[in-house]
Amino acid sequence: MKYCSKCGAQLADDDDYCFFCGAKFDEVKKEEQKEQPTFQDQSYYEDKYYGQRPNTVALLGFVFSFISPIVGLILSIIGLNKARQMNGLGKGYSIAGIIISIVSMILSVLLYTYLISVYGTEGVLA
Ligand SMILES: [Zn+2]
Repeated sequence: MKYCSKCGAQLADDDDYCFFCGAKFDEVKKEEQKEQPTFQDQSYYEDKYYGQRPNTVALLGFVFSFISPIVGLILSIIGLNKARQMNGLGKGYSIAGIIISIVSMILSVLLYTYLISVYGTEGVLA
């Protein structure tokens, strides 16, 4: 099994031309040997076929970490797991989302504790 390096179509071994984009296979093969990674390289395929899809959960986690830290933390953890399956895509957003969520939660606890210490429980809850 071989693949067209111009459009990524799967070709039979004895095909001379790519039936999708019409590239002659001799050229395709030369380009593969010149600049493409070997097809045993699994991460190349993950990049090529799945890497184009955005890691939406990771992005949502990052956004929600500012709005609702608990939701942001959950989404970021899911996003980080997805990033592992997606060859690291969105990993930065996930980690940032997790950190921001945790920091936000700590800050809210500190703020809450501070308000209680200043105004007392009744003052805060009233
Ligand atoms: Zn092609």
